[in-house]
Amino acid sequence: MRFAPKARHRITLTEDRANLRWMRAALREAERGAAEDEVPVGAVVIREGRLVARAHNRPVRLNDPTAHAEVLALRRAGRKLGNYRLIGCSLYVTIEPCAMCASALTHARVKRLVFGARDPKAGAAGSALEVLNHPKLNHRVEVLSGIMEEECSALLREFFRRKRLKS
Ligand SMILES: [Zn+2]
Repeated sequence: MRFAPKARHRITLTEDRANLRWMRAALREAERGAAEDEVPVGAVVIREGRLVARAHNRPVRLNDPTAHAEVLALRRAGRKLGNYRLIGCSLYVTIEPCAMCASALTHARVKRLVFGARDPKAGAAGSALEVLNHPKLNHRVEVLSGIMEEECSALLREFFRRKRLKS
C-alpha cells in the first residue's frame, strides 16, 4: 500500500515500525545499564534509517555525573560522523531527557527526539521543565513521546523495586 504525499507528516505505518524498532534498541541498551547496576536508561542515535550510536546510563561506572545515556550517545555519534552538529539525526531514549540532556540535544541540533515514558520529576521536554523547545531558544526539536511507554517505565520501576529490596 502506498501513501499519498499529503499523509507524509502523519505517522505512517513504516514510520511507526521504525519507531518501535529503534525504541526496542534503546530498551536493550537500558537493560545493559540495569545489568551494570546503573539506572536503566538507554539511547540510540539514528540517521537516514541507520543506527549511528547507542549508549546506556553509566555515571556510576565512569564516575561521571554527566554520563547519561543521551549524552554518551550524542558524543559517540559526533565522533562517528565527524561533526559536533548532528544534523538530520533522531535520538531515541527510553525516558524523557533531563535538563542537561535536553540542552545537549539542542546544542547538537538534533532533528527529532523520540522518548518512551515521561518523567514527571525531572523531564525537561515539558513534564517538569521546558528546556527543550524553550521559547527563548532558536533550535526546534520535533518531539514524539509514548513509544513503548509501558516497557520503558516498567524497566525503571522494576530496577528501583529491586534496589529497595536490597537495602
Ligand atoms: Zn540526562
